[in-house]
Amino acid sequence: MNAADPQAKIQALRRQLQSLLDAAKANERKLDRFDALERRLIAVESLEELVKLLLVECRAEFGLDAAELWLLDPDGELQRALPGLPMAPAPQLLAHHGPLRALFGTARTTRLIAPGHDEALLAAAFGAGARMRSAALLPLVRQGLLIGSLHFGSSDAGRYDASSGTKFLDRLAAIAAIAIESMLNRERLRRAGMTDGLTGVHNRRYFDHRSLIEFSQAVRHRYPLACLFLDIDHFKAINDGHGHPVGDEVLRQVGGMILRSLRTGDLAARYGGEEFVVLLPRTDLAGAREVAERIRLMVQAAPFVTPEGGTLSATLSAGLAMLPAGAASFAELLGAADRALYEAKRQGRNRTVAGGAPVS
Ligand code: GH3
Ligand code: MG
Ligand code: MG
Repeated sequence: MNAADPQAKIQALRRQLQSLLDAAKANERKLDRFDALERRLIAVESLEELVKLLLVECRAEFGLDAAELWLLDPDGELQRALPGLPMAPAPQLLAHHGPLRALFGTARTTRLIAPGHDEALLAAAFGAGARMRSAALLPLVRQGLLIGSLHFGSSDAGRYDASSGTKFLDRLAAIAAIAIESMLNRERLRRAGMTDGLTGVHNRRYFDHRSLIEFSQAVRHRYPLACLFLDIDHFKAINDGHGHPVGDEVLRQVGGMILRSLRTGDLAARYGGEEFVVLLPRTDLAGAREVAERIRLMVQAAPFVTPEGGTLSATLSAGLAMLPAGAASFAELLGAADRALYEAKRQGRNRTVAGGAPVS
């Protein structure tokens, strides 16, 4: 073909124009895909949904062979906020910055890894057995701090190469980081609203709500539901003798002992000043008595440390009532446990009484 041939020139220009148009169209499609994803990221309702979006749907949407999410979780907050863990796929929770620093150093921009480069990093980002050939590592940054990273991997060596732009990925990472932080804040607020700040057990408001659900489920599915009322003995004397802050410390520690004595699915709450209530679904009288006695003996044996370095001892009394005893409403079950507690106090304290009958 003659290069000077105007017809051939026009053809060549047409081809060039077509390829530019194709590239523009591909970019527009890419923009649309990223845009749709970002909108969904902003709209997620839970941390679990967010993780699923980043790991499962991104992988499918972008035709990736692997997607990993690392999140920094030095004090176990995320571990608690993701009750579904271990879930599949799960984010990897990092106790410290080390692994993130190994990926990004001091940089805070997306890293593209092509074959022949940084094989060790590929293995670190996806696990040694994953055999990815190219990858994009997105840092998740909030207020200048790395809070995690998102890794997209491909077995196609040409999928990510150093010459590709990272504008879309950088933007996705920025939005993902905001979404993660906002979900965490939401979770923090949710927890603060249902937890007693001093003892860490649930508060009365949460108990009033959950107890009705537990009661109706136990009635519907005909399983036993035990209710315990626990009240610290002569607590006023502890306050009067050692001061209010020491009283607070005793309350905090008793709250911790109660929590440690329960199983998942049990419910403990601070009902009033120095009074705790516990619900044990699917637990019969013998089982509930055992739990009450375990808590009572743990409190009795504990040395409570005062700020001056001394110790003091405390005891508590427990009242126990069971749902199958014919309680028609939750208030009735609660009333029966409260009467049992009153009886335990009347009989001399530091004991458990079940529905009027002493058990210890
Ligand atoms: P009993 O053995 O009959 O239960 O006697 P008690 O002294 O434990 O019971 P009483 O109801 O007379 O006193 C409870 C005390 O608990 C009175 C109240 O000041 C104190 N209290 C309530 N809430 C708190 C709190 O958050 N911190 C502290 N330190 N004390 C509290
Ligand atoms: Mg008391
Ligand atoms: Mg009391």
